[in-house]
Amino acid sequence: MSSSAKHALYRGIGIGESAVYGKLRFLGSKKSTPAPQFRDRQTEERDFRDTLDRARAETEALRKRTLASAGAEAAAIFEIHEMLLSDPDFIDLVISGISKGLPAAVAVSEAGESLAAMFESIDDEYLSARAADMRDIASRVRAILLGESDYSESGDSSDIIVARDLTPAETAKLDPDRVAGFVTFAGSVNSHTAILARAMDIPALIRAEEFSSDLNGAPAILDARTSTLSVFPTPEEMSDFADELRRRDAEKSRLRTLASLPAVTKSGKKIALYANIGSLPEAEAAYKSGAEGIGLFRSEFLFIGREDLPSEEEQFRAYREAARLFADRPGPVVIRTLDIGADKVLPALHLGIEDNPALGSRGIRLCLAHPELFRAQLRAILRASAFGKTAIMLPMISTASEIAATRKLLSEEKNRLRFEEVAFDESIELGIMIETPAAAIMARELGRECDFFSVGTNDLFQYTLAADRQNQSLSYLYTEGGEAVMRLIRMAADGIHASGDGKWLGICGEMAADTALTEQLISLGADELSVSPPYIARVKERIREID
Ligand code: PEP
Ligand code: MG
Repeated sequence: MSSSAKHALYRGIGIGESAVYGKLRFLGSKKSTPAPQFRDRQTEERDFRDTLDRARAETEALRKRTLASAGAEAAAIFEIHEMLLSDPDFIDLVISGISKGLPAAVAVSEAGESLAAMFESIDDEYLSARAADMRDIASRVRAILLGESDYSESGDSSDIIVARDLTPAETAKLDPDRVAGFVTFAGSVNSHTAILARAMDIPALIRAEEFSSDLNGAPAILDARTSTLSVFPTPEEMSDFADELRRRDAEKSRLRTLASLPAVTKSGKKIALYANIGSLPEAEAAYKSGAEGIGLFRSEFLFIGREDLPSEEEQFRAYREAARLFADRPGPVVIRTLDIGADKVLPALHLGIEDNPALGSRGIRLCLAHPELFRAQLRAILRASAFGKTAIMLPMISTASEIAATRKLLSEEKNRLRFEEVAFDESIELGIMIETPAAAIMARELGRECDFFSVGTNDLFQYTLAADRQNQSLSYLYTEGGEAVMRLIRMAADGIHASGDGKWLGICGEMAADTALTEQLISLGADELSVSPPYIARVKERIREID
């Protein structure tokens, strides 16, 4: 028997661990609790206040646990919950309900619902999303008041949890080592529960078809790759899936043992192996996979998919979290300044339509044309540099004047921070991406103006071969054009190494993750390779095989 879910919440990630024959549980169908009775006003009020204290303590513990297991973005959900649990409007509304003769548990539900409805009616995406948080905390306070317990793992087998829905708090309490996956009938792909499932590496399906609760305890296989939950699988299915799970587990643990080993060739050449990230959960994944630093933080992910621009403060917080996380690793967190152009929608900037956006005002060109935007980002990065080694990297550089113009803005913003007595790293490095043939050809001159280069091979291919990187029909050029790009990389390496001691060359395009090219890239002069977190272990394994 099997069921196709309408959505895989977490497709393709952690799929190997979804092969489980465990118990099916219905969190949603809690056994009915007798209706609460009003005692006296003082008792109800005292119970409510004690429960609030307990709920706050639990939420704080949950935030810390989530921070450690799933990262800052996921943990922020519980910061909001902590705030709502102390919200005077919520507390006043409950107390007023109690004073009208409602039992505390009922007053909590009514207050939660009325504030959630108020949040929902606000025409602001951030505030209306608070409705779900309000309902979540109200239902937790109510559950504590009524003595209802949470899901708890029992027995030796792994569980696939089947529930009507899971709140973020319920999800955060799951033990990824014991829970092989979860399936819900409600939920949304962009919910907090989804963020948590991804960050906790738990395979999950949502909006599945209904199952009968009689299936509780039935053996099941959850395959997030095909969005399928199979209950009572055949012995063949079970054995195939178990074999695959064992293979994946063995491969994972083999690669995991590499996390703490250095990326060094047999002859002793040390390669800095860093990660490419676009978000804080990815920074966590990078940290866990043993990355020695972040070689490319694509900051544009903070800017896209929203109506407004992220403030300096918001950017600062994101960069600071990454810098703090990597403070005990040898490498820096290299933050690439905004790389956006007319091909990406950034409503707040009102970018005009360009006939040829890939050759238009993108990357550094756009930042220099919007100095206030650029200054705010530079300030945010400078401020974050006080919390861990941080570096600035400029995309789409083609001339030295672009670096000089940036240096001028950077030096003005440094002066301003000094004047305001705001701490930053005085020796913060400034690097550039080598993405245009011009930058590679002029490497010697550009190298004098900055501290490091990182080759963006994705764009360097596109501009060297004059072949749109999105155009599938031109992919043969990417296979055949490698030698032209390799020669440009050599020029870049020679240029930066000739321009001063301590200056370094990194590669952060997709080429850096191709283990068939690792040896060649190192022999051309790459000091650093930066790849997305899942590739760290494989590239490290390859480096350690090279003579
Ligand atoms: C590149 O161009 O190789 C690169 C790393 O930048 P992006 O893929 O973000 O353009
Ligand atoms: Mg690029």
